[in-house]
Amino acid sequence: MEIDRRHFLKLAGLAGVGIAAKPIFDVLSPAQAQDSDHIGEARSDMHLAMVVQPKLCPEDCTDCIDACHSTHNVPDIETKRQQIKWIQKVNFKGAFGEEPPEFVEHELEHMQFPVLCNHCTSPACVRVCPTRATFKRKDGIVLMDYHRCIGCRFCVAACPYGARSLNWKDPVPHIEKINPDFPTRTRGVVEKCNFCAERLAKGLQPACVDACKNQALVFGDLNDRESDISKLLKSNYSNWRIRKPIAGTGPNIYYIL
Ligand code: SF4
Repeated sequence: MEIDRRHFLKLAGLAGVGIAAKPIFDVLSPAQAQDSDHIGEARSDMHLAMVVQPKLCPEDCTDCIDACHSTHNVPDIETKRQQIKWIQKVNFKGAFGEEPPEFVEHELEHMQFPVLCNHCTSPACVRVCPTRATFKRKDGIVLMDYHRCIGCRFCVAACPYGARSLNWKDPVPHIEKINPDFPTRTRGVVEKCNFCAERLAKGLQPACVDACKNQALVFGDLNDRESDISKLLKSNYSNWRIRKPIAGTGPNIYYIL
């Protein structure tokens, strides 16, 4: 789904800086990307977030996962503890860290919930990274500079949501078809969802949102009160929840239950 030009400029965070035609990864070199002066290339007046509507998400559907993983060269590894996952579907306990509460709708107990990096407002991963390989952009996206990652796994341990994966081995032989437009990673590098920053810079929605035929995923700017995501949260004020609020990281993925 193409985003209109005004919306594209807003999402890409490049409006007004004269570089709207360039994708963000061309604009920022890896060295610049972790430099706080250059993180400012993303707009600071935006608050990017996602709403997930699990009730619209058929149990056996993996369209969002397939689209995300093929777009980002995520390897398909058999050994469970070595698997890389940018987005996956888990049950209620896996998503929210507790059994479904009493008196909850019966269907919730059996529902699958897409989970991904929460692009937290106060990300524990960023706090503990010794090399600043992971950093938070001013529009809210938590990104990785793969070249700076030393594989210490502090971020993996710090993330309360299990959103990060380490490449225990060279991932390249485990990628079915390499997308030349996105970098592959190497052994010893941590990775996770990037909110499709590279697609936003081209005026596209995140791959998972685009792939979902059921509109179960909605992406946008919470600072724009007229955006679909703002309206959706407003009209479901008493129905949404975030994952593990007790962790205090301020997740930006909202689940309408
Ligand atoms: Fe970091 Fe985990 Fe929050 Fe993502 S979900 S920003 S990896 S703490």
